[in-house]
Amino acid sequence: MTYVNDHYCAGCGVHIQTENEKEPGYVPASALERETIVCRRCFRLKNYNEVTPTSIGEKEFLAIANDLASRKALIVKIVDVFDFHGSWISGIKRFAGNNDILLVANKADLLPKSVKKIKVEQWMRTQAKEWGVPLCDVALISADTGNGLEEVAGKIDRYATGKDVYVVGCTNVGKSTFINQLIRAFGAEDEATLTTSAHPGTTLGLVDIPLDHDRTMFDTPGLINHHQMAHVISQKAYKKVFPKKEIKPKIYQLNEGQTLFFAGLARLDIAGGEADVICYFSNELYIHRTKTDNASELYEKQLGDLLQPPFKADLSAFPALQETSFGMIDNKMDIVYSGLGWVTILPKSSVQVHAHAPKNVGVFKREALI
Ligand code: GDP
Repeated sequence: MTYVNDHYCAGCGVHIQTENEKEPGYVPASALERETIVCRRCFRLKNYNEVTPTSIGEKEFLAIANDLASRKALIVKIVDVFDFHGSWISGIKRFAGNNDILLVANKADLLPKSVKKIKVEQWMRTQAKEWGVPLCDVALISADTGNGLEEVAGKIDRYATGKDVYVVGCTNVGKSTFINQLIRAFGAEDEATLTTSAHPGTTLGLVDIPLDHDRTMFDTPGLINHHQMAHVISQKAYKKVFPKKEIKPKIYQLNEGQTLFFAGLARLDIAGGEADVICYFSNELYIHRTKTDNASELYEKQLGDLLQPPFKADLSAFPALQETSFGMIDNKMDIVYSGLGWVTILPKSSVQVHAHAPKNVGVFKREALI
């Protein structure tokens, strides 16, 4: 990134750049003529009372994260409930220091309506505990529909007594949508005026939003988690596989030697035993069942045709699938394809499962969410 010499945002202090709209500090080149330069994010906050999504890499994120432990703060960590593992930010415990962490899972509207909120919240607690991350509380919300927002605003108010609030999350979890809803919930929009730089001359890219008279909410740029599917497929393919509505699970009864393809993006083999497999993906994702013996040949022939996305035009940049074996599974378990969805395995006895995903896309086994 090339920064403009000696130009820092008068709002958040970030170094100004004219190259990448999605990264902190962006202004269109024409804005450099102005006497006072504010980055587009601060400009939009001041003029439209809304935050805009921005993203940064791990190194820049760590600079912000390392700064957090030394502050007295409530950390609101947003994850995408549809991609809980892929959108988790590892290292959260270290950079939270002694600060409380409120874990908020967004996009609850994508889960089947029959799923109980209380069960998902309990599951979130168990997952965080397994990873050794202490939480002060959890919440399941939909920033889109507004479901659960009032409750989470109440929790933020309670846990952030005398503290500022830092909202962290990886890209696409809906952090901006969530903050914009909170700005309304706290009635802060009347007061959302730019303060002069809280962090002059740094590249932290924190945008501050006054919550009430003595507390500030900081929007941090979204971390790019490279192991999510979104980062290995084209924009067009992502739009196709990114669920927008309540997911309708699809059930398959699979025997030994059977395979499911999830478009051309992932694959599941049952190598031993029998299982019911419940698939939680975007309703538009094409699922193809075949014999494992024929699977590789079919994939080679049909990738980009029957098995799409990826689309033909994307094939040169699309990584080959890699296999992860999960050994014998005896109990109900989820296998997650980071950012694409997951399958719940219901073994009839023990089953042996192999999952395939593009190189660098995370594949995990976890306790069943549903
Ligand atoms: P950010 O990168 O974390 O700031 O994410 P954005 O707020 O820009 O949202 C990323 C994408 O997720 C957008 O396409 C939003 O429309 C979508 N999104 C945000 N919140 C929700 C939600 O509660 N439910 C659903 N289904 N989609 C959401």
